[in-house]
Amino acid sequence: MSEVENLLHQLLGDIIVFILFLAITTITIFWVPFYVKTKKMNPEERKKYIEELQRKKHEKYLQNAFGCTNPKLICPHCQIQGTIRAKSEKRLLSTTGKIGGILKTNTTSTTIQHVTQHHCDNCGSTWDI
Ligand SMILES: [Zn+2]
Repeated sequence: MSEVENLLHQLLGDIIVFILFLAITTITIFWVPFYVKTKKMNPEERKKYIEELQRKKHEKYLQNAFGCTNPKLICPHCQIQGTIRAKSEKRLLSTTGKIGGILKTNTTSTTIQHVTQHHCDNCGSTWDI
């Protein structure tokens, strides 16, 4: 076997070991505590526990994407209070205009605009202010 083939085999072996290690770590960290916790539950409790986990996961996703809910805000689209999430965001704003003295050229300038992004959990609308 050539030197290169030897190295490739070694590399492949290393990659497989790494992937196995990652899989075992994932199983140990995520599935073992879950299994231990749900083992003693009856099917009804287990269903509730899983639903609660999914709800928390969804809430975390919404918080990352749209920020925390503000109980005082009223949605301008569906008029429901307390379902609005607000988060400050940056938007790229590009404007095209003519620039120059005698020779006018078309230029596009891009500026960063800071906006407050709002999202309604009830009707799903998202808008910037
Ligand atoms: Zn709404």
